[in-house]
Amino acid sequence: MSDIKLEGLCFKYDDSDYILDNLNLEIKEGEFVCFIGPSGCGKSTLLTLIEGLNKPTKGSVLIDGVPVTGPGGDRCVVFQHYSLFSWQTSKKNITFGVKQAKKGISSKEADAIALNYLAKVGLAEYANKYPHQLSGGMQQRVAIARALAMDPDILLMDEPFGAIDAKNRMQLQDLVLELCENEEKKRTVVFITHDVEEALYLADRVIYMEPKRIKEEIPIDFGSGRVRANLFGAPRFLQLRNHLITLFYDNADENMGSEPVYL
Ligand code: ADP
Ligand code: MG
Repeated sequence: MSDIKLEGLCFKYDDSDYILDNLNLEIKEGEFVCFIGPSGCGKSTLLTLIEGLNKPTKGSVLIDGVPVTGPGGDRCVVFQHYSLFSWQTSKKNITFGVKQAKKGISSKEADAIALNYLAKVGLAEYANKYPHQLSGGMQQRVAIARALAMDPDILLMDEPFGAIDAKNRMQLQDLVLELCENEEKKRTVVFITHDVEEALYLADRVIYMEPKRIKEEIPIDFGSGRVRANLFGAPRFLQLRNHLITLFYDNADENMGSEPVYL
């Protein structure tokens, strides 16, 4: 089970104003939810609260009805910036994660899991390479392989493809969809992005955030088995895309001086 519930969730850093103010949301087991919104609106902060690195100032984050009080093996995070250990090979990076998640597992079993996931992300031949010997896209594949090899119920992704070029980005999006849809376990995915099209392509539901709060929830009804080439010209896709872009621009004045909006 991996149902996430935000109940009256409020958060502020030690001497900040409220960063999140009364968030209420339920994310169902197996759901793929994309959060999108202007820079600084609190998306990454929200992820740290679900991860359990920060604690709510008021309200709570519940997983299967139990309040989150700290990080746990049921949740794994993939960040934008490659989080691999530079001094470890791809395989060792993954076995390290697997051993963290499954205490007491033998090295042989951990190696087998690592190799299996490296194969799934198309990097079987790169098991003994170090991060600096891999491209950015490949490093991010290893990070995804590591997260999935740890077998979390919940995958938390914070702009994981933000620094990847367009072609690799599309491949990685498809990889994540494939791995999350085809595995035996239905994982719940919370995915943060700046990219409207990425959100619409990946999500079962898009949550648009404005500073401190959820502005709008948009269920995505394109159906499964979506094909990029058909989807991107579909009237419903264009309608939702325009709607999200309008929300971004309505927010732009409040965010003068922050990072540009990526569409
Ligand atoms: P987003 O991911 O949507 O860009 P963040 O969650 O990173 O937004 O940031 C939300 C707000 O919290 C911003 O105003 C940011 O400056 C502030 N913030 C983020 N991290 C900290 C921190 N460690 N201490 C104080 N303020 C922070
Ligand atoms: Mg962020």
